[in-house]
Amino acid sequence: MQDVLICGGAGYIGSHMAQWLAEHGHRVTVLDNLSTGHRAAVRWGELITADLMDPAALERAFHGRRFDAVMHFCARSLVGESVADPYGYYSNNVTGTLNLLEAMRQHGVEKLVFSSTAAVFGHPATAVIDEEHPTAPINPYGASKLMAERFLADAATAYGLRSVSLRYFNAAGALPEHGIGEAHACETHLIPNVLRAALGKGPPLKVFGSDYDTIDGTCVRDYVHVQDLAQAHALALEFMKHQEGAHAFNLGNGRGFSVKQVIAAAAAVAGAPIPCTMAPRRAGDPASLVASSTKARELLGWRPRWTELTPIIESAWRWHRDPPDWSPDSPPLEQAAVNAERQP
Ligand code: UDP
Repeated sequence: MQDVLICGGAGYIGSHMAQWLAEHGHRVTVLDNLSTGHRAAVRWGELITADLMDPAALERAFHGRRFDAVMHFCARSLVGESVADPYGYYSNNVTGTLNLLEAMRQHGVEKLVFSSTAAVFGHPATAVIDEEHPTAPINPYGASKLMAERFLADAATAYGLRSVSLRYFNAAGALPEHGIGEAHACETHLIPNVLRAALGKGPPLKVFGSDYDTIDGTCVRDYVHVQDLAQAHALALEFMKHQEGAHAFNLGNGRGFSVKQVIAAAAAVAGAPIPCTMAPRRAGDPASLVASSTKARELLGWRPRWTELTPIIESAWRWHRDPPDWSPDSPPLEQAAVNAERQP
């Protein structure tokens, strides 16, 4: 049993992390500023409402508590938004991480699992990206995460911090049976937007760019289920028991799907065509991002369970179709009443 602080545990990936750790017998505490996360998504462990930009609040959070490790999911994480608001991204993702690392150092917490991203690589030079691939981010989001990875390498040398950075490719899916899933007030990600379009809960999907050098002109991504990401974090905790230093692993299923392929798979799950329109490219998007996760399989023992796209989309479909009342996908109360009356 480990005592784990999950920073960002009210958010999408963090809430699935809390579920995994609690189910596997660990003690969970969540720290979140609730800017994009949801109080109702904190279903496992105590919630401390605090912001990483506030060192005094962090000091209060660590004071009198003893954590074996921290998992750090707090971040602004939208590529397009980061291009428009780089100062906001560097301030939140870089300064926030530094504040957290300093609080950990002050309180003798020596292990960290860090949410990193495929965006640290920029335009891929190879069809599949392994950890040896050069890091050359093309947007402030990726750059902010790479800077944080650099802190971790320096902290290992200077202070003996043990860390694992997990570079997610495209997190997707949900665990509706546990009451958690992707619930962003302003949704920008492909799979939720496709499903919301199918359900009439969002506008027709805009396909950002159809002139990329890919199989059908649309961007290719490697979708990995959020529960498999949680599994990798738990394995990283075990890894750090025996390994010093700062380590990085790529997490994906090793297969890329184009935007059009995702739309086709989602239409099959929904049993209806997805309303969509073509739109210009989105700033900061590389054409293709596909992971090699051989290192995670070999060194962490990571075994993803959700290796096919359709079940990943199907889990998200069940979540978006029947969201809990706290989800932004949930219809307002008046609308829910109208819908109920319309039920046959
Ligand atoms: N995308 C799209 N329409 C949307 C959302 C996303 O065409 O409404 C595309 C986006 O340009 C990218 C891919 O889908 O090529 C995955 O985008 P997402 O935002 O889900 O994840 P990212 O790869 O940016 O982390």
